[in-house]
Amino acid sequence: MSHQPSTAAESAIRAALRRLPKVDAVLARPALTAADVPRWALRQAVRERIDELRQAVLRGAIPASFDLASEDVCARARALAAPSLRRVINATGVVVHTNLGRAPLSPAALARVVELAGGYCNLEYELGVGRRGSRHGHVAALLTALTGADDAVVVNNNAAAVMLALSALASGREVIVSRGELVEIGGSFRVPDVMRLSGATLVEVGTTNKTRASDYERALSPDTGLLLKVHPSNFAIVGFTEEVAPAELATLGARAGVPTMMDLGSGLLLAEAELQAMGVPPEPGVRAMIAAGLDLVSFSGDKLLGGPQAGILCGRADLIDKLRRHPLMRALRPDKLTLAALEATLREYRDRAGPVATSAASSAGTSAATPDTDSNPNIDVPVAAMLAAPAAELERRAEAALALVRDRLAGPGPGRAAVAVTVSACTSTVGGGALPTSTLPSWGLALVPAAVEVGAVDIDVALRRADPPVIGRIVAERVVLDLRTVLPDDLEPLVAAVVSVVSGTA
Ligand SMILES: *Cc1c(COP(=O)(O)O)cnc(C)c1O
Repeated sequence: MSHQPSTAAESAIRAALRRLPKVDAVLARPALTAADVPRWALRQAVRERIDELRQAVLRGAIPASFDLASEDVCARARALAAPSLRRVINATGVVVHTNLGRAPLSPAALARVVELAGGYCNLEYELGVGRRGSRHGHVAALLTALTGADDAVVVNNNAAAVMLALSALASGREVIVSRGELVEIGGSFRVPDVMRLSGATLVEVGTTNKTRASDYERALSPDTGLLLKVHPSNFAIVGFTEEVAPAELATLGARAGVPTMMDLGSGLLLAEAELQAMGVPPEPGVRAMIAAGLDLVSFSGDKLLGGPQAGILCGRADLIDKLRRHPLMRALRPDKLTLAALEATLREYRDRAGPVATSAASSAGTSAATPDTDSNPNIDVPVAAMLAAPAAELERRAEAALALVRDRLAGPGPGRAAVAVTVSACTSTVGGGALPTSTLPSWGLALVPAAVEVGAVDIDVALRRADPPVIGRIVAERVVLDLRTVLPDDLEPLVAAVVSVVSGTA
């Protein structure tokens, strides 16, 4: 074998590779040994930096310096060690935003999680008799009081609730569902798929736009295990439509001796009149479904209810009991954090003072009531407060936020900014598969490109790079930050992010 004579370039590269810093030598620097960053992250950051130098050398782009700046290494190590889950500011105007973690918890729910999760609790322990108890007892009474149902049980989410109900009540049997309700909820929850997985056989009746009681009746057989209604959640069929009312289905099921169930999706515990007072169109509540005579109703804990992720089933005691005893329950049971937060959220609903009906009546009769509180549902649950916030109040908040932004930008700024900020009307949505077609009038800040080299997308990217990241919406070449979903504590960081984007420091 003959060796190729190396060129001058090749020997320069070999010489440069010998000059690459050594990992342990860099890590031994006082600036790094003293840094408040995990050692593994520092080591990985140093390795990555050295590897970048090596790649540059191998490409023939020999760096002028092989010195690694300690601050640079520390910054990279900090980024590597940072948590993946981060707090973000929801300025999308979508109140129940699944991608952003759905419902923010109430102060009471947070306090209970902190209190119970840091120690031991009576999760499955009967304090009175000093022996094993059931975790299912802690919220059942609250749920029956709030919904009028005989009994209730909680699982990890509503998808699990539907899965459990189908498995326990209809495995190996037929479940009749309207073709207009064979929906797919975000994140690949498809009614026909869940049905198959549970061992139940789907029997479709009616058409996409029209299903009548007689359609269900004709499909009944000795094999029917359940009559199921599903809230369409994320779409609406409009025009020439007909569906079977819950009460009608309940009557049909009772006559045939077949249980009836409604997958309600977003579990509303407020009165329909309260929603109306907020300017939200009527949405069937859980209580109304139970009153209609349905045997089981399932819904999420973290949609309109405003609590933690959970699936709640309420209804006939014998059916709930069957669910509680089903082997799947062991895999779907909620943990203590969920139960702590859910119990606190439900207590907010049960213990609140003066429901809205009273305050709406008094504001109609007298002028003593403060405007803007008409739709206040008197409940310290963020989702309810956000839905109830009147447009006039949001406009005031937007004006105040703009004043803060202008204040900070005043002074010897960088001259004409590439981004202009204004107050703007916008529209919020409920989200979370509730009321897909309705919007709430809202107000926010609009960040408008004011130079050719800046686009709305650039502004959006800069806001998402802020700490905490701000998530807005691009509407007509502007970034709109809807204040309805910005929590009180998030207003200050939101203003700071806007200021740094406008002043070009982001
Ligand atoms: C959201 C929804 C589900 C899924 O509920 P999760 O709590 O997200 O599991 C199921 N059915 C309907 C109708 C829904 O709207």
